[in-house]
Formats: sequence, structure tokens, C-alpha cells
Amino acid sequence: MRGSKHHSGVGSLREIPEEEVRAFRKRMAGTVFTHDDEGYHDARQVWNGLINHYPAVVARCSGVADVVEAVDFAREHDLPVSIRGGGHNVAGTAVVDGGLVVDLSERKGIHVDPDARRARVEPGVTLGELTRETQVFGLAVPGGMAADTGVAGSTLGGGLGWIRRKYGLGIDSLRSVDVVLADGSFVRASPSDHGDLFWAIRGAGGQFGAVTSFEFDLHPVGPEIASAMVYYPGDNSREVLRAYREYTESCPDEVTTLAFHSFAPGGDGVPESARGEPALGIMACHVGPVEEGERVLRPLRELGDPLVDYSGPTTYADIHDSEGAYPHGRNYYWKSMYLDELGDDCIDLLVERASVAPSHHSSVTLWQLGGEMNRVDADDTAFPHRDAAFMLSVEATWDDPHTSSQNLDWARETWEHLWEQSDRSLYVNFPGLAADRTDLMRAAFGDHYERLAELKAEYDPTTLFRSHNGLSLAGGTTGE
Ligand SMILES: Cc1cc2nc3c(=O)[nH]c(=O)nc-3n(C[C@H](O)[C@H](O)[C@H](O)COP(=O)(O)OP(=O)(O)OC[C@H]3O[C@@H](n4cnc5c(N)ncnc54)[C@H](O)[C@@H]3O)c2cc1C
Repeated sequence: MRGSKHHSGVGSLREIPEEEVRAFRKRMAGTVFTHDDEGYHDARQVWNGLINHYPAVVARCSGVADVVEAVDFAREHDLPVSIRGGGHNVAGTAVVDGGLVVDLSERKGIHVDPDARRARVEPGVTLGELTRETQVFGLAVPGGMAADTGVAGSTLGGGLGWIRRKYGLGIDSLRSVDVVLADGSFVRASPSDHGDLFWAIRGAGGQFGAVTSFEFDLHPVGPEIASAMVYYPGDNSREVLRAYREYTESCPDEVTTLAFHSFAPGGDGVPESARGEPALGIMACHVGPVEEGERVLRPLRELGDPLVDYSGPTTYADIHDSEGAYPHGRNYYWKSMYLDELGDDCIDLLVERASVAPSHHSSVTLWQLGGEMNRVDADDTAFPHRDAAFMLSVEATWDDPHTSSQNLDWARETWEHLWEQSDRSLYVNFPGLAADRTDLMRAAFGDHYERLAELKAEYDPTTLFRSHNGLSLAGGTTGE
């Protein structure tokens, strides 16, 4: 067996003695992949086809003991560590070049206690898997809107789900986490135990240790719900967006909406002449009796003359279905910002930029916030964005790798233009790429940045947990 060569991230090569790699493999119950192993290339892939990182070691962990082994091995060999949950981070932060990946993707345990309305969830679970189990009891965790994304990464960055306005963010339902820290020790963090760590992990998680278990409160939802899904023609999307804004100003917390400016699909009911033309999609989810939901969502279907209207009762599980829209291996670059308000100028710019996207899979999307998620005090968790009215995401999505620079240019320019309209903060789960060299951590954590940096120095003094090149609290900026 050969030793494991790896890129250090700055182009040089180092070598881990083969007997040490061999001994590490032996200590691990799960599988260890290095460059020459069959399965290495699959193990380093993530959902985003644009990401092509080469870790020195992927340690697929079978439990807490493996996580401790992997963290100890990385520390002893001076390898930066990234952590993989569902592998869906758009920036590919789960896989660190030249370092060690603590791969938790196969940790799929879910235990639901319907009487206590609590769930224990392992970090490889996806939102779809969790929703499936909790919906047996008509319960849910408000963690994210797409079934394929990992509960782990989504929650640790905040967790904007379909019921955020009724029940808050994913982190607002988090009761405790089990964590393996940089020194290999195991702790449980909760409001009463390692409270500072628990504060930091709720919004800036991933920087402080590997979470091996999440404990969530559950909330009653569905299984049947009322939903809206309407496409309006791009010709009058400015007017429709203004009417949409008005709706969001007074709709009840039971409603959470999303507006995305993209291109009309080729699906059932879409007029031939409109297919592939700019179009505005409005989606909404209602928590509560279906009939009431249909009534409350009705105005969203009458904001103009729809191209096509797919609204109607559905299940809470089905509204998370995302595989068709976001298949594995396509190229993605998504970057966000928060808006205190949705001004007319912002609407104009959004429509203008979205309509010229080089790929028809791309969009500029408005995520309605407010309600319960904004009632939580901004200082209660590391997630500081409790006043914003919307999150806006620029989502470049394309198939042909030869058009990457065109699509990246569109997304970056669009983001730059719209950033002027924003409150200059962004969502850490839609960060663009490390190569953007945005002062990402300050933009993501605002006034909480200093405290987080202090806690990072306390819990991870050597910056072992580094995500992918530079997306770290240590140093504050991206630093590829
Ligand atoms: C199609 C799609 C739809 C999305 N929709 C939403 C949405 O509706 N709402 C929303 O809020 N976000 C959404 N996101 C963003 C998503 O929340 C992030 O991409 C998130 O990082 C994905 O989590 P993951 O576990 O799959 O990520 P991974 O790529 O596995 O991990 C990303 C990062 O999370 C941290 N992490 C993961 N697991 C652990 C762990 N066990 N311990 C410590 N740190 C860990 C690490 O820092 C890691 O680098 C969406 C993303 C995609 C691709």
C-alpha cells in the first residue's frame, strides 16, 4: 500500500507515511478513501458538478468513535478538516482540498417521539428523509424547502423551510446537538450545557466541530396542505411583483411564499409561445386546514393573468420535491443577500437581470421572511438576520461546462448590481464560491462576527475545521 499524497491547497505535495494510513484504516469501522482507492473519486463528488476538490482523505464514519478517530488523525497530521452531511452545499464546503473529509453522509438514523414531539436525527439525513418519518405523525422540522438537501448543513446555517414564518428557522427548533470538537472530545451542547457553543452552532455551525446528532422540536403540519404554484408571463412581472409584495405585507404567518424570476417551463398547460420565455413563478405553502389555505392563497393566483396555475392541495412532503429542478451533477453558483424591504428599483433590476440569464435553468429568487423567524431576538443565536423582509438569491444553474464563465459572469454581475439594493448581508448557506473573495463571514454574521471569532479561537484554536479553502471564521475573509 502506498502512502497518501495530497495537495496542501497551495500546490505543494506532502505525504502521510503509509503505515500511519494503514493503522488509521484499521482503527476505523467505516471506509477510508485516499487517492489511489477505488471509490475515491465518487467519495469526493458533491451535488454541484462545478466543484472539483481533491481531499487527501475521505473518512466515511460509521459512528461517533470513527469521528473521534478521524478528527484525531487529521489533527496529528496537520490536515484541515471539512465535514460532509448531505453534500449539497453549493460552494462545495463539504470537501476540503488537501485535507480530511469527515464524511457523515451514511449516518441516517432518525428517531421520532410523537408524544414528546421531539426527533433525534443523525447528520447524513436529508430533509426529505426526515420529513417522511415525521409526517407519519403529522409533524415536521422547519429546516429547508428541498428534499435532497442535508438536514445538517441546512440547519447549521439557519434552515429556511416552507414553514419558517409559522414555526421559525431550523435552528429555532434545535434543542441540543452532540459534537466532536477539534481536540477529539465529545460534548453535548444545549441551552444549559456549553451554551456559548450552542449559540454559535445555531447559524455558524460547521466551524466548531462535527455534529453527530441533532435533537429537534417537532411541529404539527399536514400531511395535506394548500399550496400555490403559478407562472405569470415576464411581460408584466414588474406589476405582478409589486402586487406580490403587497400580499406579503399582510398575509398570515401560516403562509410562506417564494417568487422566482426565470423562464417558462415546457410542462403541461404552458402555452407553446411562452415556453422558454422569461416568466415569474410564485410558490406558497399554507399550514392549517386546506380549505382555509385555498382561500388565503387565492390572491396569489390572481396577481395578473397567469400563464399556468398548478395550485391546489398537495402533501407537505411533496412540496419539498426538488430533484427535477436541481439534479445532481449540474453546474450551480448561488449567492444571496438580505433585503430590509423590496423597493421598486430592486424589482426593476431583478426583472431586468433575470430576463437575460444565459441559462434557462437560472433564476433570481425572493424568499419571503418575517413571522415567527423574525420574532426571535437577533442575539439569541448566531444567525443575525431577524429583521429582513426577504432573502434574495441569484441562482445560476447550467448544463454545459463550456458556458461556465458566461454563467458565472452573469451571476456575479447580477449579484453585484442587486447588492447595492440590499442590507449588505448574506445567507451563509448561499455563499457563492470561496474564490469570490467576498468578506463572507462578516457579511454572514454582522455584529456577531467578533464573538464567533472568539469562540472559534476557544473551541478550534488551530482552525482545524476549515470547510473548503478559506470559508472560515478564522481570519474573517475568504482566503484561497
Ligand atoms: C437544491 C438546494 C435547495 C436548497 N434549499 C434551501 C432551503 O430551502 N433553505 C435553506 O436554508 N437552504 C437551502 N439550501 C442550502 C443548503 O441549506 C446548504 O447548501 C447546506 O449547506 C446543505 O447541507 P448539506 O448537509 O447537504 O451540506 P454539505 O455540503 O454536506 O455540508 C455543508 C457544510 O455544512 C457543515 N456541516 C455539514 N454537516 C455537518 C455536521 N454534521 N457537523 C458540522 N458541520 C456540518 C459544514 O460546514 C459543511 O461544509 C439549498 C441547497 C440546495 C442545493
